[in-house]
Amino acid sequence: MPNAFALPSGQIIITDQLVKMADSQQEIDSILLHEIGHVVHRHGLQQIIHGSIVTLIITMFAGDATAVEEMIVALPAFLLESHYSRGNESEADEFAFKQMVELGIDPIYFATMFEKMLASKDDLKQNDDDAKSKDESDKDYGKFLSTHPSSPSRIQRAREYSDKYFK
Ligand SMILES: [Zn+2]
Repeated sequence: MPNAFALPSGQIIITDQLVKMADSQQEIDSILLHEIGHVVHRHGLQQIIHGSIVTLIITMFAGDATAVEEMIVALPAFLLESHYSRGNESEADEFAFKQMVELGIDPIYFATMFEKMLASKDDLKQNDDDAKSKDESDKDYGKFLSTHPSSPSRIQRAREYSDKYFK
């Protein structure tokens, strides 16, 4: 599935499918820089801390120590499924845009990459309508989009950076 995410250790994982979707190195760079933004701002760590507090509160109420073990087992899945907050997303975006400007990469590539992901999501949805149940097809695509909501405003913001520094 097309996806990219940052581990709290600072490692960034990007899947083949997402790389294939890109038409240029600059588009891949824009995704990587966005993920680096999450690492720099320690968003992954905030998520774990937030998740741990929730689990500990549940444990206190339930008096169940195995819940903590379950949490540790569930952690990788939690990282894949969890959503960053809207604030975290725009913080990572701003980091990516500024780094792109500094590196001489037009932030327009961020916009084109996200537009492509949006378009492929619509395409797949159409193709999958007969072939699979909706639940099944929803799982296959848009993992990155589901954890990184691609609102038109972030694409717009990338275009603003592009206009300001590359026009
Ligand atoms: Zn993100």
